[in-house]
Amino acid sequence: MFWDQQCETLDRDTLERLQLHRLQETVRRVAAHVPFYREKFAELGLQPDDLRSLADLRRLPFTTTADLRANYPTGLLAVPYDATLRLHTSSGTTGKPKALFFSRQDVDNAAELCARSFVMAGITPKDVFQNMMTYGMFTGALVTHYGAEKIGCLVIPAGPGNSERQLLLMRDFRTTFIHLTPSYGLYLATFLEKHNVDPRRDLALRKAFVGAEPYTEETRRKIEEGMGVDVYNSYGLSEMNGPGVAFECEHKHGMHLWEDHFLIEIIDPQTAEPVADGQPGELVMTTLTREAMPLLRYRTRDITSLIPEPCRCGRTHRRLNRITGRSDDMLIVRGVNIFPQQIERILMAEMRVGRNYLILLNGLDEMTVKVELAEAGFDGQVEHLMKFQSQLAEKLRAEILIKPKVQFLPPGSLPITEGKAQRVFDERKM
Ligand code: AMP
Ligand code: ZN
Repeated sequence: MFWDQQCETLDRDTLERLQLHRLQETVRRVAAHVPFYREKFAELGLQPDDLRSLADLRRLPFTTTADLRANYPTGLLAVPYDATLRLHTSSGTTGKPKALFFSRQDVDNAAELCARSFVMAGITPKDVFQNMMTYGMFTGALVTHYGAEKIGCLVIPAGPGNSERQLLLMRDFRTTFIHLTPSYGLYLATFLEKHNVDPRRDLALRKAFVGAEPYTEETRRKIEEGMGVDVYNSYGLSEMNGPGVAFECEHKHGMHLWEDHFLIEIIDPQTAEPVADGQPGELVMTTLTREAMPLLRYRTRDITSLIPEPCRCGRTHRRLNRITGRSDDMLIVRGVNIFPQQIERILMAEMRVGRNYLILLNGLDEMTVKVELAEAGFDGQVEHLMKFQSQLAEKLRAEILIKPKVQFLPPGSLPITEGKAQRVFDERKM
């Protein structure tokens, strides 16, 4: 199913011509209205008209999170302040937030891309959408809210948390699809189990769009089994409108990134040079249609790779593989580089492991993985548990090359997360 078949299936030549045209427009606009870019262009000796092909993209400067913060609050606006329609901030944890402005056209485009993304996964106007993302400054909820309304779905702006109420709403209003973080998805699955709700029998739920933080295929499976839904990976970031940047189609093999609105590069985060097609690196994006706050070559810090081959669904927009983490998520423990996702993958593949975990770094350079057991994970025999504990520590060692302590906890004992989870606690004295 298509929301906008023509745009979604544009042949690559036409798509690239459109991209070049939009890029040239964007560059002209920022050169005229954004002093930050004007100065960068001057430093590089670059005139907007120098940009003659998509390959010239590489001559443009990068934009980083630090640039966004340095130009806070309105320094990167390309339209007059009173021409803006909405302000969002990014969920960055410390210091000044990143301020992201939308014009009327930007608000509409963001909704349009979410509509495309939902319909791509089979959503129709008859569907009922319970949005479990946080409403507020965060783009996660509002942008998808408008997208689903555009399709004509009934939208229930539930927000995250208060699982009893979520259940009541899902039951009473026959919710068919939800949008939530993987951490909350895992929690909700446990909640349903505890309350003896069999979602396949008791609810009308069919699909879940899960995103806003990295998660693994194993976690996808846990949510699918526990909630009786088909999970679609959904990716976005506030700097690029929020959700709706790249979602999975029915084939669930990579997320189509809407290339008529964004230009993609994958670079080596150290050297900033492009990686070979299909190789992992940092995703860099340039906005092609944003009016209020266009960004050139924005360094997302998200690590992924491109799937260059066409997809069976007929869409020509290339796909991104699952985001494996952020370049700044990497932990260095005893000299070894570790991504938390490697640990999650091992844990969530275990039947006896429950749905919540955290990683504690303390002492000189010690790692403890605290993980909840599944309801049926403990058969009452302590020896079995101890054996499982050492097996799991061994499996983790094989993956991350250092052997952590594994500590099991009863189901439901770790703090629950409704939004993005904090899984790593670094208390090392180094
Ligand atoms: P925010 O701008 O606060 O919405 O956060 C955006 C960030 O969330 C992205 O840059 C990613 O690091 C992360 N993120 C969003 N969606 C996903 C996803 N499906 N998989 C992995 N990470 C994601
Ligand atoms: Zn596809």
